[in-house]
Amino acid sequence: MSNTAIVGINWGDEGKGRMVDYFANQFEVVVRYQGGNNAGHTVINEYGKNALNLLPSGIFRPETINLLGTGVVIDLKHLNEEIGRLREKGVKITPENLKISDRAIMVLPIHPLQDKWEELRLGKDSFGSTLRGISPIYGDKYMKKALQMGDLKHPESLKTHLRRLIDWKNDIIVKGYGQEPINYDEVLEWIHTYGDPLIPYLCDAGELLESAENSGKSIMFEAQLGALRDINYGIYPFTSSSSPLAANAPVGCGLPSLKVDEVIGVTKAYSTCVGEGPFVGELKGQDAHDLREAGAEYGAATGRPRRVAWMDIPATRYGTKLQGATALALTKMDVLSYLDEIPVCVAYKVRGEVTGRFPYTPDLYEAEPVYETLPGWKCDISGVRKYEDLPKAARDYVEFIEERVGCPITYVSVGPERDALIIRD
Ligand code: GDP
Repeated sequence: MSNTAIVGINWGDEGKGRMVDYFANQFEVVVRYQGGNNAGHTVINEYGKNALNLLPSGIFRPETINLLGTGVVIDLKHLNEEIGRLREKGVKITPENLKISDRAIMVLPIHPLQDKWEELRLGKDSFGSTLRGISPIYGDKYMKKALQMGDLKHPESLKTHLRRLIDWKNDIIVKGYGQEPINYDEVLEWIHTYGDPLIPYLCDAGELLESAENSGKSIMFEAQLGALRDINYGIYPFTSSSSPLAANAPVGCGLPSLKVDEVIGVTKAYSTCVGEGPFVGELKGQDAHDLREAGAEYGAATGRPRRVAWMDIPATRYGTKLQGATALALTKMDVLSYLDEIPVCVAYKVRGEVTGRFPYTPDLYEAEPVYETLPGWKCDISGVRKYEDLPKAARDYVEFIEERVGCPITYVSVGPERDALIIRD
């Protein structure tokens, strides 16, 4: 396959991990290009059920090189633990199949703490952060105060950068949040404890990717979260702190000149969202309960119940456009099998005007969903592997979404297992 990005079209949790796991053996390199351990990509395969926070979802394929790219932020302790958990299950992880960009950024213990203090300060206006320190660390990165992974190999510059960071942070911690200052020596020790074991995995990501490209190898870019959480084009400020767009993949992976040839946009057959922010058509009461239970919609990283809604065409069309998707994967079709009929949000009504556009964030609070209802198929489709074997109502549902969104749905997922995927010709 040519260089392919697997990206989220909506609010995240679309099932990107299972799609990356499915395709990973067709790629020589799988690279995460943004985000941190707030991701929760669930992959079910011969190693059981695995929730990946940092490691690329190609890690189960021993011949595939998995790269944590330059745009990623890495909690050192969390990465050690994640590697340890998978090794215990028998997954092979060595400096040959796992690489870490020396320009990726370190998340230190102070960042989750600052995340928590800031959410507490915000009170009822909090963002519903995953409390993994992602927003503080990206803030530090752009303030040019963060530490890069390559600092681990340069102890003197590590100390200088850490001193600069801690002097500055302690002002914020003490004067801003009224907390005890952090101790330089303790943080330095923490960095050595959890960072030194990662040194053998460090690499120049640009060099690695360039040599892969020059030898004709194909690269998969694995996104975290979805287009509507993009820092530039999403529902700001209820976004992530990075860009999950395919357009950012070359910059975030470590070789900005790389071309992304194909973009597979992953979207659920209905909508879910974790955290705060506008969510048009959010279901409440029994409908929400039934859909959440049918889809087991609880966060992989946090266990939080996800907010649920029906398929949202304006949001999905917008996300598809932002991602430049060349094909869509529609996941969790099997979850809708219990329904007699399935509402689809085809447009929004904003202050009396019906629009198919996904509006500017404040207008989303005033948007009401406009639904069309399609017949359900009312039977188990989880064993179906050929598109023509799906019941007609299920095919009609797929083709309705495809036509309204304006992008081919090439993959239909009917279960979480690796092979529970229908590939359309
Ligand atoms: P990601 O972050 O985009 O990888 O998505 P998550 O892993 O957070 O959430 C997707 C969840 O849906 C995971 O628990 C998957 O195992 C599960 N899943 C993925 N595809 C399907 C599907 O087609 N059917 C069902 N029932 N579950 C699926």
